[in-house]
Amino acid sequence: MKLTFLGTSAGKPTKERNVTALALEFDQDNKWYLFDCGEATQHQILRTSLCIGKLSTVFITHLHGDHCYGLPGLLSSKKLDKAFSPLTIYGPKGIKHFIECVTDTSQEHLGYTLKIVETEANSRIIFDKFVLRVLPLVHSVESFAYFIQEHDTTDKLDEQKLRLAGLEPSPLYGELKRGNSIMHKGKEFLSKDYMLSPLPGRSLIVAGDNSKPDILGAYLENLDLLVHESTYTQKVYDALKTKFLHTTAKKLGEAAQKHHIKNLIATHISPRYSRGSSCDAEMICREIKFAYKGECFVAADFDVFYLDRKKKLQKL
Ligand SMILES: [Zn+2]
Ligand SMILES: [Zn+2]
Repeated sequence: MKLTFLGTSAGKPTKERNVTALALEFDQDNKWYLFDCGEATQHQILRTSLCIGKLSTVFITHLHGDHCYGLPGLLSSKKLDKAFSPLTIYGPKGIKHFIECVTDTSQEHLGYTLKIVETEANSRIIFDKFVLRVLPLVHSVESFAYFIQEHDTTDKLDEQKLRLAGLEPSPLYGELKRGNSIMHKGKEFLSKDYMLSPLPGRSLIVAGDNSKPDILGAYLENLDLLVHESTYTQKVYDALKTKFLHTTAKKLGEAAQKHHIKNLIATHISPRYSRGSSCDAEMICREIKFAYKGECFVAADFDVFYLDRKKKLQKL
């Protein structure tokens, strides 16, 4: 699975980072998914190979503007692009009102089917490639993490076994791969008897704003990849006069280590951390790595990562 970070800033954009958005693509798929849609996400999409016409589903973690103010423009541009494929948006209670307020005020006729689903914590939704579970977080408004468990898959035939059974490579192999049984020289070949064992699916959490990573509990245990906010380093957070419900690099690193998470990507970085200043995102990375010994990255805009079947995370 491939992740493209379209925005990695917390609260407001900077010259280096736009506000939160993340694209997710599965292997051999013709569609993609978007997690959060901060303002100007559609501008960021234009700078990648992603195409709005192939966007099938948007998951909004919570209704703070840096996570959803990009929706109205994106929905409108989809119509102007004549991308009339249906689109579904999942989000917390209030997402429907937010979108309908804007589209009604602008008398926007989208021309495609827009389904808006207000999800609740702990709901479970089955997609063609994965099962998704909505998990509650700790933030100043209702905020969700989306846990994704990819289905176990195989499309590999045991060719040696087929040959021994008298079936040489032919278009019949395609039928077996599609799960169909076939007849050959009076003998029935059942698809399930000739497929290699399935490859285990990958697991991923994309979390919204959250001050308590541990709230994800058992879902973190041996997780293949966690994408989580890391808004501040601990020292900066401790010096804040007003505390916000966000996670520090230290707390995130400790949670990741405690739960044996295989790979971690930190995002939603406070605008105060900028390249070349005395306070840059490297500090966040170092603080996480002090506690966490797995693979760890702090995402920048347009970073692309691939999580392979062996659960190894690579930055492309
Ligand atoms: Zn935020
Ligand atoms: Zn927030």
